[in-house]
Amino acid sequence: MTLFQRYGYNYLGESVMYQDETLICEDCGSEFVFTAGEQEFYAEKGLTNKPKRCANCRKLKKQKHRGKKRMFDAVCAKCGKQTQVPFNPTQGRDVLCKECFDAEKAASAEA
Ligand SMILES: [Zn+2]
Ligand SMILES: [Zn+2]
Repeated sequence: MTLFQRYGYNYLGESVMYQDETLICEDCGSEFVFTAGEQEFYAEKGLTNKPKRCANCRKLKKQKHRGKKRMFDAVCAKCGKQTQVPFNPTQGRDVLCKECFDAEKAASAEA
C-alpha cells in the first residue's frame, strides 16, 4: 500500500513531508483520512491539532450549530405572557411577545 505523500512547508517555513493519515472519528467511530493536503493546510494555519471528526460529522455539527438559536426567557410587557426572544432582555426595555409585537407593528404602520 502506497500512501500519498507530498512535501510542503509548515508555518515556520520548515520543510515537512506530509502523508495521508487514517484517523478515527470521535463522534461516529468510523475511519477517515486526514489527507496530506489537509495536513499542509493545517500546518500553514499553524494548527497543531488533528481533526477529531470525519467530514460528515463535522458537517452535521455545523448544521446543528447553525440551527440552534439561543433564546432568552422574557415576559411580555403588554400582556404578561411568558415568551422567548432571540436577544438578552435588558432591564428597562420592554419585551413583547410575538403577537403583541406584530400588533404594535401593525398599529405603528397605520399611524
Ligand atoms: Zn464521524
Ligand atoms: Zn404579549
